[in-house]
Formats: sequence, C-alpha cells, structure tokens
Amino acid sequence: MSAISKHLLPDNAVIDAHGIMSIGGCSLVDLAKQFGTPVFVYDEDHLRARCHEAVKAFGPNRVIYATKAFFCTAMAKLAYDEGLMLDVATGGELFVALNAGVPGSSCVMHGNNKSMDELRMAINADVHHIVVDNFDELDRLDALHAEGLPVPRVQLRITPGVSVHTHEYIATGQNDSKFGFNLGNGDAHKAAERARSSKSVNFVGVHCHIGSNVFAVENFAHAAKIMVDLANELEVEQLTFGGGLGVAYVESEHASTITEWSTHLMSAAEQLRKPTQVFVEPGRAIVAAAAVTVYEVGTVKPIPGVRTYVAVDGGMSDNPRPVMYGSGYELFMPANANADRTESIRLVGKHCESGDILISETLAPAGLRVGDLVATPVTGAYGHSMGSNYNKITRPPVVFARNGKARLVVRRETYDDLVRLDVSE
Ligand SMILES: *Cc1c(COP(=O)(O)O)cnc(C)c1O
Repeated sequence: MSAISKHLLPDNAVIDAHGIMSIGGCSLVDLAKQFGTPVFVYDEDHLRARCHEAVKAFGPNRVIYATKAFFCTAMAKLAYDEGLMLDVATGGELFVALNAGVPGSSCVMHGNNKSMDELRMAINADVHHIVVDNFDELDRLDALHAEGLPVPRVQLRITPGVSVHTHEYIATGQNDSKFGFNLGNGDAHKAAERARSSKSVNFVGVHCHIGSNVFAVENFAHAAKIMVDLANELEVEQLTFGGGLGVAYVESEHASTITEWSTHLMSAAEQLRKPTQVFVEPGRAIVAAAAVTVYEVGTVKPIPGVRTYVAVDGGMSDNPRPVMYGSGYELFMPANANADRTESIRLVGKHCESGDILISETLAPAGLRVGDLVATPVTGAYGHSMGSNYNKITRPPVVFARNGKARLVVRRETYDDLVRLDVSE
C-alpha cells in the first residue's frame, strides 16, 4: 500500500520534501522530541473548521458538542468559542465545562443514571435543558422540586426502536437498550403525559441518539422521521437528533461529511408542523480526524511463519477502542510519511495483556526499528477521553498545533500524579 490517504489525516497535515509530516505547521518529529511520546497532536484549525461546518449546517445555538468524545479545558473553550453548546453526561463533565468558563446555559445535561447531586448541580447551573432518561429520574426531579429548586427545561430521551449498523456496544436506538423511554411499548407516551402535567419539570422537547460511528445515512433518516412524527404528535417546541455520525478510520472506509449528514436530518425536519428548534449532538465527527497519536517503537519481534509484533510506548491505556470494539487503524512514520507500506505487522502496547493491541494487523513501512517514531491517525475521539492509568502508565499529553505554534493543553501525568489520591497512614 502507498502512503497514508489524505482523508485519514487532519486538514492541515503536510509532508515536506524530506518526508517529515507536520500538523498545523509543527513537525511531528519535533513535537515528539519536545513533549515525549506517546503524545496526542491535534490540528486546532481542523477542530475549529468542523465546529464551524456544523454551525453553518444546523444554525447558531443548535449544535451541542458531545464532550465525552474528547474533553479538557481547552476543548471546552474552543467549542464554546466556535458557537457550540456542550453535552455533558456526568457531574464531572459539567464541572470541567463550568470550570472552563462555559456558562451553564450553554450546557445540556445527559446521562442514564444521574444522581440527585448531579441533577441538583445541573439545575443550579441553569443548564439549557436536561435530557431525562427514565421514570426514576422524573421521581428525582419531583424530589428536587420539593426541595425548592427551580423548574428545569427537559427533553425526554426516546428510544425509537431503530437498529443501526455499528458495534453492539455503541448501538443505542434499539428496543433492547438501557437508554431512554421506549416508543414501542408505550413508555415514551406515558413519560410525555407525566412530564406535561408535572409541576417539577418544563417539558420542552424530545430527543434521540441511535448510536455511535454510524455510517448509513438511511439509519439517521429513519430515526429522524420517527422523531419528527412524535414531535408533531406531542406538539413540542424542541427536537434533538443526537450525534453518531461515523468517521473513516482505515483506508477502505469513507464517511459522510457533517454537511451531508445535515441534509438528511434537515429534510426530515421539513415535515415539522410548528416552528421547532432542532438540535444535534456530534462528538466523533468533530474531533476524531483532528488528531494523531505519536509513539516510539521499543521492540520488534518477528515470529517466522506467524507474524511480527511491533511494541510501542503506549497502548490500551491511551486507546482502548481496538480492545473494546475491535476497531482498526492505519499507521505511518512521521519521519518518513511517504513510505510505501508493504510489511504486515501487529502493533501492540506495553501493558501486561495479550489483548493490548493497537492494530491487530496492518501494513507498515518495511523494516521498522527500535527508536522509530510511528503514528496512528484518527485518534482524536474516544482515545484520550477513555484513557486509563492501567499498569500505572502516566497518561500522555495533548498538544494543539496551529500556524506553526504548539500549545500544550493537557500535560503528561507524572509519577507523583499516580499517588496523589493515595491516603497513607
Ligand atoms: C455519545 C453521544 C453523542 C455523540 O456521539 P458521537 O458518535 O461521538 O457523535 C451524542 N449524544 C448522546 C446522547 C451521546 O450519548
């Protein structure tokens, strides 16, 4: 296979005459020297361009960034700065958003098991709305109203009974799901009746999110039609279509753009009978392709007749997706980014698990050696955010690169960080 395809790289990735790749005008080789490896490098203008594209497609105050895809103070500020609201699903995510200076009124509270404390925090922050997931949560909102808290605006999360083509763990719209009020068995209508007559909530709309990394636009169109019919029937003023747009991770994949996705959703929304605010919640589509992870090769183990293992200085602690979902990735050499990829290898991490695989099988430039830098593209979503300290690995730093300047936005963890929570006698 030839060099890595452009569609898997950040917008502002450039390969110079020596074969060295830069992102946002910063050489990946230099960044690896400066910040060490592994390191997440984001193309800041790519992030901003996707935010901008989404706002242009859906309108101002209609795009809610799903923070769980990738979140830190700098990302909260960037998304808010570009006119997005923030979808938070825990008290912790809400804290990071508020702490970054994002007003509560630009946050949307999610979660299938929000605690009393999390709901109280959301109401006190005056979030834009709470997406209520279940009857127990309606009970909790009644209890909070009895405490004297203000009445929050709520949307109801509906499970429309749509099965999508994606990994089982990230399909959420089918009837057999922990999320939301099922439309098929009458729960959705019961919840709507209860919310409408309740004094403790202000029922403003309905919501669905059918799954993540969904490529088939028919799946979105199908769910959108069901939700538009429901919004018409319930005569609500707000409708949220969720997120879930898939992105290409490997050469053989191609995904719709945010703009293409919007045409399917907005054409379904044309059937809305009354003026309705239509929201979306993209996560992956905003951040995934914006970043690459740069590692250093530490060992190369050819097993004749079996395969060659190439081990790097990270692994499942910075990218658990291959382990969780069997996800595929490509690989390139930042110092020789035009190299043909001709040698089949398995890329693994340094954790004490055979399952610690970053790429199960891929073609790599021939003759990878100890000390070489390698990078996996499309690691901007659900890598850093799902990272862990397994094996007491210190989590990698995050760098935003733009116009030749690299900005450290999350520093690497230190050994001291690893014992910061330990209580010693
Ligand atoms: C995860 C999630 C999203 C974002 O999903 P992506 O696949 O990252 O776009 C949006 N809305 C809800 C409710 C989610 O749980």
